[in-house]
Amino acid sequence: MAIRPILRWPDPRLSQACGPAVPGPELDALAADMLATMYHAEGRGLAAPQVGEMVRLFVMDAVWKDGPAEPQVFVNPEILSLSEERVEGVEGCLSIPGVRTLIVRAPEIRLRWTSLFGAVQEATLSGFPAICAQHEIDHLDGIVTLDRLSPEARDEALREMEA
Ligand code: ZN
Repeated sequence: MAIRPILRWPDPRLSQACGPAVPGPELDALAADMLATMYHAEGRGLAAPQVGEMVRLFVMDAVWKDGPAEPQVFVNPEILSLSEERVEGVEGCLSIPGVRTLIVRAPEIRLRWTSLFGAVQEATLSGFPAICAQHEIDHLDGIVTLDRLSPEARDEALREMEA
């Protein structure tokens, strides 16, 4: 298990779509590294392209800052449906340090993914985990928060970016 460097925007890899992830020992090792990296960076979600691995995998722990850790690994996640409602929330990103953005997302999603053991899982996520999963799946599609802003809001966000 190793802590990996987190790519910073505008690294071009953060703007590329990822290919399918294949369960196996290499993916197990990558997921372990990503969880260690996420906790070390004090984040609650991390997508594989943020450590330069262009596969559809993200890790999340929505609750560790408030209690016992609950590490979760999502292989080849797919959003099956979004609730009709939309909410606006503040999002940060470990690849865009110092920048907080207001992003509109669905507060509830139905998600399908594969476990590290290759088992297909499905669940309804709501609240923070739903928002976080949409943020991380955006990364797998080469989309960062800045890409979801108006040109004016994007310029403002970039001025806040840490040098
Ligand atoms: Zn991010």
